[in-house]
Amino acid sequence: MENGLKVAVITGASRGLGKEIALTLGKSGYNVAVNYLASEKEGMEVADDIASNTLLIKADVGDIQQVERMAEMVYARWGRVDVLVNNAGITKDSLMIKMKEEEWDEVLRVNLKGCCNTIRVFSCFMIKSGGGHIINISSYSGLKGREGQAAYSASKAGVMGLTYTASRELAGYNIKVNALAPGYMQTDMGMRAEKAMEDAKKESITGKLSGPKDAAGFIVYLLTTDNITGQVFCLDSRIV
Ligand code: NAP
Repeated sequence: MENGLKVAVITGASRGLGKEIALTLGKSGYNVAVNYLASEKEGMEVADDIASNTLLIKADVGDIQQVERMAEMVYARWGRVDVLVNNAGITKDSLMIKMKEEEWDEVLRVNLKGCCNTIRVFSCFMIKSGGGHIINISSYSGLKGREGQAAYSASKAGVMGLTYTASRELAGYNIKVNALAPGYMQTDMGMRAEKAMEDAKKESITGKLSGPKDAAGFIVYLLTTDNITGQVFCLDSRIV
């Protein structure tokens, strides 16, 4: 360990929820690897805000070779990995009868295969450091479905199944694996889904929308726990 701090890797940390998680873990005393793909300027701003204990890494989580390269960079810099937050995600919304095959493939590649890629690669490094936490960002859409989100909701339901299996396979190495299903948030992704926002407001029992801070704060808490694994936590005000 270069500076005595634990190491967290956040995928898709250039914007939205991932940005909030990266900044929160930076403030909570972690070394933070900030992963991005297209938004270099935004990624650099996140890394600058975290200041000295950060590493900015461009990588497509859906490409296993790029994920391996990312893990090597993290290990070379800090010599350990304690936390992986699988946050990177995309949507390509379209009714199933109109959906293009390549839209389905790309959403599943990034959201589900991407999550599996990073778990496979980073868990090997966590084993070397004696264990860790993996947190996968799923969605309400994965639990309940939503018109126009066949690929997205299938990928997010898949993330829950992946979480259950990974938690079983990695428990013996002291690696805890959990998933979060955050509420609807007004990020770039959320703002593109107007109907989802209207529905979320109607379905919320408080009448309010969720925000990234609740999810980031929940992650900080989860990282302090020792025997919580294999769970899916809904961070929402809609009853599921
Ligand atoms: P967002 O604002 O669109 O941000 C998505 C992030 O993912 C960006 O930082 C983007 O980076 C990154 N990303 C996309 N494809 C990538 C790839 N192939 N490799 C690496 N990074 C990639 O979305 P968000 O709302 O913050 O969503 C974050 C997570 O929360 C997603 O998994 C989403 O499904 C989930 N979620 C969102 C909501 C919501 O209402 N917004 C609700 C529940 C769950 P670049 O721009 O650098 O490419």
